[in-house]
Amino acid sequence: MLKINQIWNNILLEAEAKTTTLAYDLYINSLQPVGIHRDRLILLAETRALKNIVDNNYREVLKRCTNMVFPSLVDVEIITEDELDKVSAEQEVDIPVSANYVNDTEEKATFVSAYTFENFVVGKSNEYADAVARAVAENPGTKYNPVFLWGGVGLGKTHLMHAIGNTLQRNFPEKKIMYVTCDQFINEFIESVRDTSNNSNSMKNFRDKYRKLDVLMMDDVQFLANKDSTQEEMFHAFNDLYLADKQIILSSDRPPKEIKIEERLKTRFAMGIIAEINPPDLETRIAILQKKCNNKGYVLNIKVLSMIAEKITSNIREMEGMLNRIISYSTLVGGDPNDLNIVNDALKDYADSSSDIITIDHIVKATCDYFRVKREDLIGKKKNKEIVVPRQICIYLICDILGQSVPLVSIGEYFGGRDHTTVMHARDKISEEIKTNDITASQVKDIRDKIYNR
Ligand code: ADP
Ligand code: MG
Repeated sequence: MLKINQIWNNILLEAEAKTTTLAYDLYINSLQPVGIHRDRLILLAETRALKNIVDNNYREVLKRCTNMVFPSLVDVEIITEDELDKVSAEQEVDIPVSANYVNDTEEKATFVSAYTFENFVVGKSNEYADAVARAVAENPGTKYNPVFLWGGVGLGKTHLMHAIGNTLQRNFPEKKIMYVTCDQFINEFIESVRDTSNNSNSMKNFRDKYRKLDVLMMDDVQFLANKDSTQEEMFHAFNDLYLADKQIILSSDRPPKEIKIEERLKTRFAMGIIAEINPPDLETRIAILQKKCNNKGYVLNIKVLSMIAEKITSNIREMEGMLNRIISYSTLVGGDPNDLNIVNDALKDYADSSSDIITIDHIVKATCDYFRVKREDLIGKKKNKEIVVPRQICIYLICDILGQSVPLVSIGEYFGGRDHTTVMHARDKISEEIKTNDITASQVKDIRDKIYNR
């Protein structure tokens, strides 16, 4: 018998490899598995808006991922809370699994096989992070502890963590290595707390599982923000592992001091090696594309690769998306992917299909629409209140939604060459104001909803 969570964790593993980080984090990972009804997996979306987004954009990929691991499940249904009592779904089922099935998604570390050091292209922007990652993969727990990798979305943090995992598993098959996303850790913790009334051992089991590890990798720890009791739990797990010389590896989209977590946890996150990953330069971007082509058996000339690398500068996952698009388009129309006309056609509506990638422009536009102000005023010099408040809210939303993928300096530049301290001031001001002023809080919420429900 398989529990619904075991089933869903397996599907998530597939989905993570097949969707953009943003789509995965924002939409797919926020769904809750309800159960199985006949050949159908039922998933709960928190809001109707989320349901619509998933139905329109991710249902097919979810179906594919589900079917790949569980051949008898051929459909996926997304429901909202008001439909919960209308569906009947089994929490435990006896169904066949394919070779892709991972028996215990919690106990056994699973690493994406393509995310290796060999496949990781090293340039100035990531050479330090790469060197640190290689060192801990060879010699865990001794020299660098904890390792804290940080950088913008799609720059290779998860890739490096899996590369460490793949190498460790090969070199030290006896070691207990665990990779968890921060979200998984939070959910597991909440579940253990909730389950205490049924099973008095549930908290103990949760704790033991983490205490017996030799290596703990936690991805995207910025999501610990505002999760006070999970932070407390993490603090103790960290201490126990650290004192026993066990290796801890963390990743985040911002440096420890900028994560909204309690001070003592920040200090601990920062007490080993902090390695930043920056956006790669043009040469490195082209080399990455070349590597991806080699791995996938595509033959593309340098002209096309340069064109992609020049178009997309700050997110490698997005760059790969463009590459795949050119290949699939040329196959579809039976053209040559090295023919620049074909490439241009393939990319013509790229902007539409990548619309789930949120950019500064999207946030600025949503803010302007909401407050009915002109873009040039919003990013310009005007100082009247009607403009200043929307401008600050917009800056806050950019920092909050895009995180470290956009440095404060570039936000300042975007807003008419303002200093990065001005950006920080706006961000912090609104961040405080949300807590005390309901109007600001609801304005921010409304604009955010608009951005995500484009
Ligand atoms: P992050 O976790 O930082 O958001 P990922 O590790 O998910 O980013 O990387 C996004 C994609 O870009 C992955 O497909 C990864 O293989 C690829 N990638 C990132 N950096 C490199 C690199 N230096 N060499 C090769 N591929 C890379
Ligand atoms: Mg990642």
